[in-house]
Amino acid sequence: MSNPFFETWSTPYGVPPFDAIETTHFRPAYAQALEEHSGEIAQIAARADAPTFENTIVALENAGKLLRRVEMIFGQLSSADTNDELQAVEREVVPLVTRHWTGIYLNPALFARIDDLHRRRDSLGFDPESLRVLERYHLDFVRNGARLTDAQRERFAAIMERLATLGTTFGQNVLADEANVVFALTEAEVDGLPEFARAAAAETARDRKLNAPYAATTSRSSVEPILHFATDRGVREKVFRAFVNRGHNGNAHDNRKVIAEMATLRAELAQLLGYETYAAYKLDDSMARTPAAAQKLLEDVWTPGRKRAEEDRDALQELMGEGRLEAWDWRYYAEKLRVARYDFDENELKPYFELDRVIGAAFYTAERLFGATFRLLDDIPVYHPDVRVWAVEREERVIGLFYGDFFARPSKRSGAWMTSFRDQQKLGGEVIPLVVNTCNFNKPPEGEPALLSLDEARTVFHEFGHGLHGLLSDVTYPRLSGTNTARDFVELPSQLYEHWLETAPVLARLTHYKTGAAIPEALLERMTAARKANKGFETVEFISSGLLDMAYHQIPAGTAVDADAIEQGTLAQIGMPGEIALRHASAHFGHIFSGDGYAAGYYSYLWSEVLDADGFTAFEEAGDPFDPATAGRLYTYVYSGGGSRDYAEAYRRFRGRDPDINGLLAKRGFATLQPIEDGAAL
Ligand SMILES: [Zn+2]
Repeated sequence: MSNPFFETWSTPYGVPPFDAIETTHFRPAYAQALEEHSGEIAQIAARADAPTFENTIVALENAGKLLRRVEMIFGQLSSADTNDELQAVEREVVPLVTRHWTGIYLNPALFARIDDLHRRRDSLGFDPESLRVLERYHLDFVRNGARLTDAQRERFAAIMERLATLGTTFGQNVLADEANVVFALTEAEVDGLPEFARAAAAETARDRKLNAPYAATTSRSSVEPILHFATDRGVREKVFRAFVNRGHNGNAHDNRKVIAEMATLRAELAQLLGYETYAAYKLDDSMARTPAAAQKLLEDVWTPGRKRAEEDRDALQELMGEGRLEAWDWRYYAEKLRVARYDFDENELKPYFELDRVIGAAFYTAERLFGATFRLLDDIPVYHPDVRVWAVEREERVIGLFYGDFFARPSKRSGAWMTSFRDQQKLGGEVIPLVVNTCNFNKPPEGEPALLSLDEARTVFHEFGHGLHGLLSDVTYPRLSGTNTARDFVELPSQLYEHWLETAPVLARLTHYKTGAAIPEALLERMTAARKANKGFETVEFISSGLLDMAYHQIPAGTAVDADAIEQGTLAQIGMPGEIALRHASAHFGHIFSGDGYAAGYYSYLWSEVLDADGFTAFEEAGDPFDPATAGRLYTYVYSGGGSRDYAEAYRRFRGRDPDINGLLAKRGFATLQPIEDGAAL
């Protein structure tokens, strides 16, 4: 039986032949890929000659090509277009792949070669990027147990494998609760919803073949409009409760035991590696360096944020009048307060935020800043008909392909993310990156435009910022390519990019989808004035989740974990306002439990916000959002540099100084901590 993973791809740019890839290809592809990679590793480890950079580090970088190819495609399909069979493959291969990598990191002969090079690194005359990749490999091995004793290794490997399995279970449980819970809604129950939301709710009802005019699921894009606009308080409560209880329903998909086991195992893992807590282990390889530094930032912003939220709560309660304001009322009355205070109704903006125009505006920004242009291609195989592909050109050559997959569907997990099918690198010839952005916008009925909210337009810019980090990457080694950086640095290119959406030249391109008219000046003024509205709420819902993440990952080894107790304890300790819910409650906090990507790392968004708020002021100071000199430094040190430099150093080279937290506080409309010129550096 032929399997495209074992063939050379004769597609344009060597892209994955999605039209030929079937679910049944993954099991054999994984089996062969793991075997091939194991063989390559064994050869490197068993060499009789002395270790050199070439025969060890470069050899490692060149090994595992088939595995990378399979994993990158499987990773996106199992997130963005999964099915029962793919989920079964996922449950099977995730522990195998984890065991495979653990075996590599715990291979003593291999580590001895890397360690030897690392010890002699100062005398080997490396260029900075080669030195960086060697240091990176050494650190990867040490952090993955290379220095453990034999007895410890066995336990370490078992924990890693179990954690991988639990992470998969966690994600599949949340997806099950998101896919299975549907509310059929009547005409009266969607009262208050703007046209776009009614259309989406009608589409959901049709999609799910319900005998009702409208329906809502528990995905964020379905829930948020109801919480913002539904006049029927009972509907808001019902949908809200289902939304916050995803993974917490006492059914077969309940995640509480999964979480408890993961937190306990992570604490033990950290202890094995010589760290006090999992957070200490995780943050040792970050810009923040210590849990205390991350915790301090969260707390510094929590205090003014909660104060603002409490002031807003009183205003919302007054607006509501009779009855007690509850969590399912906040967004609804915050909308009304926004209109009352700023005369700003988000829906007025939507006709200007048609998806394709927003994408065009993101492209325009990339052209102005970095000289990148985009051309829609029609001959690239895709994994779902909603996916579109563009060639990215710069300095008269194609530097990468950009795949956009923007609409929600039941086979896609919630959220928005960037990933790639292939990373940029130059080892043994130029390889151009294939980058994907995935979002969950409501798909309009055939022939209708997809109109985004301001928030969703920001998401397009955010994910596209990550996309550019991958597309503009200009490094030699795959290990340092694009977004392969520290978690609290990786959100800088994405969050910084959001700033351009609200600059005058970009807004000028967002014209009305029907009339082609520009956004009226008065509406823009009201939008700008309303920018700081509801920042207390946003700060509280985000930081409470950040502090919850830190709580799970600062428990000492050997402690029995009760997920409900940790969550409730954290909320009580920080004085969480009862009218605001965690942005992510434990049982569906995929960032930290569906894999370990953001475990003890949810603070990263706030950390990066310090950088992006401070970074964008560089353009403001230059008096031009596209100031060429500033954009040039941004390109060199941030967007094209991948992980090739120390992160603090990269930022300093771009900005000319260390970051300052006051930019973030000012952006949220909070009092700054110190006079700006003092520079409360991170
Ligand atoms: Zn991001």
